[in-house]
Amino acid sequence: MRFVLARAALVAAVGAGFCLGGAWTARADNRPTPKGPDEDGTKPALVKIAGEGMMDSHAFQYLTELSDDIGARVTGSPSERKAEEWGAGKMKAIGLENVHKEKYQLWRGWTRGTAQGELLEPIRRPLHVDAMGWTGSTPAVGAEGEVVAANLFDIEEEVKHTSRLSGKIVLVVMKGAPKKDVDSLFAIFGDFLNAASKAGAVAVIGGQGGSKAVGMNLTHTGILGFDADFAIPVLSLTAEDQGQLERYVESGKKMRVRFNVQNTFSNGPVEAANVVGEIRGRENPEQVLVVGAHLDSWDLSEGTTDNGTGSASVLGSAEAIVRSGMRPRRTIRFVLFTGEEQGLDGSFAYMKQHQSEMANHLGNLVLDNGQGPVREFQLGGRDDLVASFQPFTQSLSSIRNIAVTDKVESGTDTLPFSMAGLPGINMDQDSPEYKYTHHSPADALEAVNPDVLAQNATLMALAAYWIADRPERLASPWPVEKTVKMLRAQHQDEMLKAFGLWPKEFADAEKKEETPK
Ligand SMILES: [Zn+2]
Repeated sequence: MRFVLARAALVAAVGAGFCLGGAWTARADNRPTPKGPDEDGTKPALVKIAGEGMMDSHAFQYLTELSDDIGARVTGSPSERKAEEWGAGKMKAIGLENVHKEKYQLWRGWTRGTAQGELLEPIRRPLHVDAMGWTGSTPAVGAEGEVVAANLFDIEEEVKHTSRLSGKIVLVVMKGAPKKDVDSLFAIFGDFLNAASKAGAVAVIGGQGGSKAVGMNLTHTGILGFDADFAIPVLSLTAEDQGQLERYVESGKKMRVRFNVQNTFSNGPVEAANVVGEIRGRENPEQVLVVGAHLDSWDLSEGTTDNGTGSASVLGSAEAIVRSGMRPRRTIRFVLFTGEEQGLDGSFAYMKQHQSEMANHLGNLVLDNGQGPVREFQLGGRDDLVASFQPFTQSLSSIRNIAVTDKVESGTDTLPFSMAGLPGINMDQDSPEYKYTHHSPADALEAVNPDVLAQNATLMALAAYWIADRPERLASPWPVEKTVKMLRAQHQDEMLKAFGLWPKEFADAEKKEETPK
């Protein structure tokens, strides 16, 4: 559920600071040099797994079935439930143990209906429009209004002056410089939508967090917060259509637009489930590494790159390990999460349901950045593990050069693990085209190269097996105080607080820190 603005900032940061990892130099201090697969005994198993993963991969076949036979999978919808059954069936066929579903409640269900738009003045033509997820409808006959602009970069002021929006269609623009970081702006954007709705605005042309669509003639849907729904229709226009409206605003031309948007909310919570299967550990089965990706998707296309690729990688990685005949020391638990797109609901539910076993968790490993090859293992805040991880990535250098950082990825199912002080490991990908396929009508099988998918699934299998099998346990949860410090250092605190995701024990830890001894 990456928010588009945050995503753009991230891509810029990675582009500027990207360097290839794997260059391993001797440590200056006296600590023992961490052992990689060549020294820790895992290499023979990894070679077998790599062979299975690269020579006999079914990952693209799984992705094709998920994309074409099931298609879009909005959490709580009949097709998402079908995907759960499909995932469980695949896990059983692959030979995983303890295959089952873990149910939880999504606060509210939502079904997309139709969306039509028309520019009425100063010229007349149809507009290309789609509704954002978990947003409302116009009256059944549609509604029209004059278009007025609201500045996202000044959203705190805009929230206070919504009475001018009565009967109007609001066009969100970005003018000047943002006064806050983009994630916090996005959190306040939710307040703005509620205020605009209350003031009687007809609809908001806003995209995800007020961002403009990327790509030629593409709309992008998405959620507008964590577990957030809005009565007012919030719409994504293509960049071309939105650009035209913006030019009218700039030149002071009066314009009128008509929309007819129909969506349906469920009356109450809806049921969803994570799909779970395991390879039980041979020595310490109680110790668990979670390997996951989200099975749910948006619904403007077939959800191939977000996150069919991750789901197919999870299944492909499980299959490579099972077929190798190797059993790791600790348990690898494969989880197809759902509810990711609504606010990481599936992975947060997992943490709750498995709270009593958290001390036995080693972390999780997630792939959810589109269609490109893996370029970086981001260790979810655990800077203490970077040195241990490097000899492993070094051993992959004949497949691909992959960097290691301690970055926290808050836009996917790694976040709940990082918040638990565990390495929520994000397999970051080099996916320059993801900005087009992300939540758009272009998110289809055409975007994926089978060879890249097979390699990503294999890399996932190798990382999973190495972590689960290396003699030394990779990680145990950090205490809350340390986790809070890390989240602050990685600038996650402001966003988490803005979205109401900063737990009481984090707030208590901060207070304790502030109190002088
Ligand atoms: Zn995703």
